[in-house]
Amino acid sequence: MSNISFEDFQIGDEIKRALQLLKYNTPTEVQREVIPQALENRDLVVKSKTGSGKTAAFAIPICERIEWEEKYPQALILTPTRELAVQVRDDVTNIGRFKRIKALAVYGKEPFSKQREELQQKTHVVVGTPGRVMDHIERESLNLEQLKYLIIDEADEMLNMGFIDEVEKIINQLPSNRVTMIFSATLPKDVENLCFKYMDTPTQIEIATTGITAETIEHQLIKVTQETKNAILKDLTIVENPDSCIIFCNTKEHVDQLYNELNESNYSCERLHGGLEQVDRFAVMDGFRMGNFRYLVATDVAARGIDVDNVSLIINYDVPMEKESYVHRTGRTGRAGNKGKAITLVTPYEEKYLKAIERYIGFEISIMETPNQEDILSNKAAFEEKVGGRRVVKNNKTARINKDIMKLHFSGGKKKKIRALDLVGTISNIPGVTSEDIGIITIKDNLSYVDILNGKGSLVLQAMEHTKIKGKKLKVSEAIK
Ligand code: ADP
Ligand code: MG
Repeated sequence: MSNISFEDFQIGDEIKRALQLLKYNTPTEVQREVIPQALENRDLVVKSKTGSGKTAAFAIPICERIEWEEKYPQALILTPTRELAVQVRDDVTNIGRFKRIKALAVYGKEPFSKQREELQQKTHVVVGTPGRVMDHIERESLNLEQLKYLIIDEADEMLNMGFIDEVEKIINQLPSNRVTMIFSATLPKDVENLCFKYMDTPTQIEIATTGITAETIEHQLIKVTQETKNAILKDLTIVENPDSCIIFCNTKEHVDQLYNELNESNYSCERLHGGLEQVDRFAVMDGFRMGNFRYLVATDVAARGIDVDNVSLIINYDVPMEKESYVHRTGRTGRAGNKGKAITLVTPYEEKYLKAIERYIGFEISIMETPNQEDILSNKAAFEEKVGGRRVVKNNKTARINKDIMKLHFSGGKKKKIRALDLVGTISNIPGVTSEDIGIITIKDNLSYVDILNGKGSLVLQAMEHTKIKGKKLKVSEAIK
């Protein structure tokens, strides 16, 4: 094992402090390889298994290299799903918190005008799905003149048929002297070659030979028939009695059917697929992160990149038709050094897909017996105690980093000619407060938000009761949310 620590990298104290609060004590293997090279602005092609810390591998050097004063976006990160865009935005925000890095997620099905308004504020990092990013470029709400970094996360998916045209269109709009980095756990050779088109003699970094390991995730399968599938699935949940579980189906119809069936049997469960309203999709993801329910029934929308703490069991209700998808689905467990388990239900018809998956991952998935009556009976009580309830979430990183931060709402903005400078000037003049205690500032037409760091929120709130900004008295309160 190597003894390299984050101290050994050329990164500033503000970022190191965030890493400490996130409990990132030592860099993961992919971070050890990527961070120094990314800091030197090399183009990179990175293949490293699910849950190995690829996000921070690019987010740390990007946050370090961002010039805070610059108004226009300096980094663009492309992701295949809206849920992943939001998650990566949050990761970048957490890592850049004390450097006051402003990251914004843009994606479809959210009002364009809202995002355009936010893009008019200083934004350092934009994370988005290709369609909406292209919209912003075409409608000139996203200025790319200062763009220095392009990151394509889940690169093989992004350079797949569904996305490639849009991604290429976006790339053609970017300054040619930018740095390009692409990441995935699965990277077929042809896709890798395709990437070279957009890159300048990239360095290839490959951490594990395949995107999968049997060390952190225990892989098993159960032979079922269409008729016995649902009964066996339920028996399986009784004997496994997971704290938290994602059940993957191949279609939204299967998700809906299974969700209804589990719901009727009083499972604490929710569902996620592309046919739901976007607000509901986000609400489900948030609820799952918070531990509000234990079982998530989902399509592959939840397969790529999604990082939820301690998902202990993955069940493939349907065998995925694409071999890469098996790697990504099962990779939602066994993350960041934790252990996990993945069980796949296989009907005779699906055997052929299974063979392709086994060839791809390089080992045979061991067959497990269908749960027997004895085990079911002896586990029933424990299962019933758990199944309807919520789960205790141990590791809420965002909450930890926000613990000492209070968001204040000021009843004035652009229309009253309030600028960030005015807010910083006034607040840092309060005795006991310095500009170091001021975080991200957002100024809208009629209101502004200021993050106050280091537990000084109440102090500022109190002082603002009798302090004017630019000669104006503004109402200041703690922002809701
Ligand atoms: P990947 O993109 O490789 O699938 P993520 O970037 O989503 O993986 O990271 C997986 C998990 O590991 C996340 O919960 C992340 O917060 C955590 N993590 C990342 N880097 C470290 C580190 N250096 N120490 C501890 N945990 C880490
Ligand atoms: Mg990832």
